[in-house]
Amino acid sequence: SKRVAVLTSGGDAPGMNACIRAIVIACETKGYTLIGYLHGYNGLLNQEYETLSLNATHNLIQQGGTILHSARCEAFKSHQGAKDAAKNLQALGIDTLIVIGGDGSFKGAQHLSTCWDGQILGIPGTIDNDVAGCDATVGYYTAIDTAVSSIDKVRDTADAFERIFLVEVMGRHAGFLALNAALASAADYVIVPERFDNEQQELERIINQIEARRKLKGPVSFIVVVAENVWPGGLNTLAERLSSHMQSEVRPVTLGHVQRGGSPVSQDRLLATKLGTYAVGLVGTEKTLIMIGEVDHHPVEVPLKETWAYTKPLDECSVETMLATMNQRY
Ligand code: ATP
Repeated sequence: SKRVAVLTSGGDAPGMNACIRAIVIACETKGYTLIGYLHGYNGLLNQEYETLSLNATHNLIQQGGTILHSARCEAFKSHQGAKDAAKNLQALGIDTLIVIGGDGSFKGAQHLSTCWDGQILGIPGTIDNDVAGCDATVGYYTAIDTAVSSIDKVRDTADAFERIFLVEVMGRHAGFLALNAALASAADYVIVPERFDNEQQELERIINQIEARRKLKGPVSFIVVVAENVWPGGLNTLAERLSSHMQSEVRPVTLGHVQRGGSPVSQDRLLATKLGTYAVGLVGTEKTLIMIGEVDHHPVEVPLKETWAYTKPLDECSVETMLATMNQRY
């Protein structure tokens, strides 16, 4: 019978628990032993783990965060780190390691393979959706929802005072979350790294739109969604520049880590459950160093190396729709 290990690594994301639950159940059904390493790759280095059985799955699908905890781990990146991790996996007789995380975590898995010849499977879990080869990562849909409900609230107060607000949304170096949160909350403007021209041009466009709107309607609220890490100098710099042009206050709001929390929405639960189950179905096959993802609602197997080899483009249809609708709030 196979011995399987699972860990969650990198930024935590809603739905990681749903994925762990699916893996536990699939392993039980197949008669595999399953252990969960704690704190990402730190658990591998410190041989810190727990045995996972059906007891762990009660009410797990709806829980945010990850019961295995997540972490970043510098020490693992060295050759010695991979060697130590391999030794620990061998000591426990692990046949297959399943890594739930982002592309950084997949690089870590590839790195481990230089010292360990067991089977390695990846499942994309990050709110940023910045993993190539799959349509969506586990956690992404929930994060959109969280950002949207926050932006809706900002809109209420912005409307009341006819204020300009800048709302910073997470995403690391990708604009998926910002773009789709902006679209779903009918934000007035969005700034994403994939479409960032330069500061002056973006600023002019925002100012022109606000002025056009004011001419037509008088004082109005205006919400700009800004992806993190895109505006040089950060959100406050943009707020200051905009407010000096507009001669009115501009309020910056950073949504921050609330976007990583919360009970996963159904889409994330479904994705996590399908991918977890599918991954366990591959245990014991020749397939290794692949990510299990979904494209067009079908499972796909993607070599881990391809998940970071190219940058996943923004969903073009969302871009076009945003451009077509962001000027229509009259
Ligand atoms: P997110 O994008 O949501 O933060 P991630 O998986 O991309 O998730 P990272 O912090 O980039 O998060 O990576 C997680 C861990 O994976 C790192 O702390 C490190 O232990 C390991 N890792 C990342 N890159 C490498 C690498 N090039 N070589 C070896 N290990 C790596």
